[in-house]
Amino acid sequence: MPNTALQSLLFASLMFCSALSVAQQNPASSDPKAVAVAEVGVEANQPDPKIVEALKEISAQQIEATIEKLVTFKNRSTLSSNDQEMISQGLGVTAAAKWIQETFESYSKACGGCLQVKTDSFVQPVATRVPTPTPLTNVYAVLQGSDSQNARRIYLVTGHYDSRNSDTLNTKDAAPGANDDASGTAVSLECARVLSKYKFPATLIFLTVAGEEQGLDGAKHFAQMAREQGWDIEGVLNNDIVGGNTTPGDTQQRKDTVRVFSEGVPASAKPEDITRTRNLGGENDSSSRELARYIRSTTKEYLPGGFQPTLIFRRDRFLRGGDHTAFNEEGFAGVRFTEFREDFHHQHQNVRVENGIEYGDLPKFVDYQYVANVARTNAATLAALASAPASPANVRIETRGLTNDTTLTWEPSPGGLAKHYQVIWRDTDQPYWQHAMNAADRATSITLPISKDNVIFAIRALDDEGHVSLPLVPHPSGRIDVPGRPPVAAPPSGM
Ligand SMILES: [Zn+2]
Repeated sequence: MPNTALQSLLFASLMFCSALSVAQQNPASSDPKAVAVAEVGVEANQPDPKIVEALKEISAQQIEATIEKLVTFKNRSTLSSNDQEMISQGLGVTAAAKWIQETFESYSKACGGCLQVKTDSFVQPVATRVPTPTPLTNVYAVLQGSDSQNARRIYLVTGHYDSRNSDTLNTKDAAPGANDDASGTAVSLECARVLSKYKFPATLIFLTVAGEEQGLDGAKHFAQMAREQGWDIEGVLNNDIVGGNTTPGDTQQRKDTVRVFSEGVPASAKPEDITRTRNLGGENDSSSRELARYIRSTTKEYLPGGFQPTLIFRRDRFLRGGDHTAFNEEGFAGVRFTEFREDFHHQHQNVRVENGIEYGDLPKFVDYQYVANVARTNAATLAALASAPASPANVRIETRGLTNDTTLTWEPSPGGLAKHYQVIWRDTDQPYWQHAMNAADRATSITLPISKDNVIFAIRALDDEGHVSLPLVPHPSGRIDVPGRPPVAAPPSGM
């Protein structure tokens, strides 16, 4: 064998052995090409006993009672707030709003007045599906954060309590809306009932809105109010059609999962945000998508081996919209929960039988155990987020020179709950975070022997009990564009 060939062989086997030893040192990866960094588990796996306890209290019976009660208001069309006949009979959207408010108040009484029960009432002006000015009321309960430095952070769960039948303007005929969206309203109420028995450093809001079927009117008003008043809403969980529709003979429904829709490029992105996102390859890392990933990993942690969300990387279903979009448009991270497979005979339909098909959004098609699992997913996420530190601030990726290493810097998580930080990353073609590594104690920067060209990075904050913040993807600290083209300015905050 010629000398050079022998050297090549020796070199190759040496490289193979060293790659193997790195992989062996690195139990988080079985990839022999893995880089030599001390990885830790990327999924949170230290469940908070308090959250575990809370989830046991989520009750399918309670959810059933809520949905059955909402259906008794006969037709919860937003326009029925102008229908004096319905109001005089104690029916319609106005009576439903009153009942929701009283229910929140009863939950507050049970926790010694821990909830602030509020309404956001306004007159919706004439619009496409609103023929005359229409009074509209959003009803919500606030569980104020127990930590003064973290109470300004808000996580919100919402569902719409209005309903419709085949005619969006009809206020008289039955519009039971058991699935669309008494089910989502029941998730908000059940999260309020259960989580109000506990204290969390950050604030939770349990919201129920009207006007969804007329054009997201209630959610738009609430989201605009939140933005104008400077509310720091860091995550919106919108539950709309989470009943797990059960049609006799349907074999394609799945009861082990709920879809979670999240937008890619944010609805609120300005042209310069879109340019930066394009240059970074950040189309898959909006704050809404990070929230969706967080929901997935939190559900894995708290509902192991059972119910799991299916993340859908798009804003919503074709031809349909929802209240999370109203929040997205105001710049808030927000996602939509919807059952795996919808039966369109049981939504937006007059109750009737035609050609042997039963139409209408009736309680008998709702699976209350399924709604309870969706409620557990929501409650786990809300409790985990409200217990966790805030995300680190001002996360940056060093882009001022050509190097195969990556340097990330950040400012401490505000609010004082963070005890340490982790860098997480994934290959650019992967949907979920794959790797994690702890930064040194009190460090606010880290350099890794991994090329930023090849992976997506983010930084997250943790406390000593295993609560994990939402991750923040970095912005460039220098240019990220191609020389000769106009520079892309580094913006102040997250996408
Ligand atoms: Zn709906």
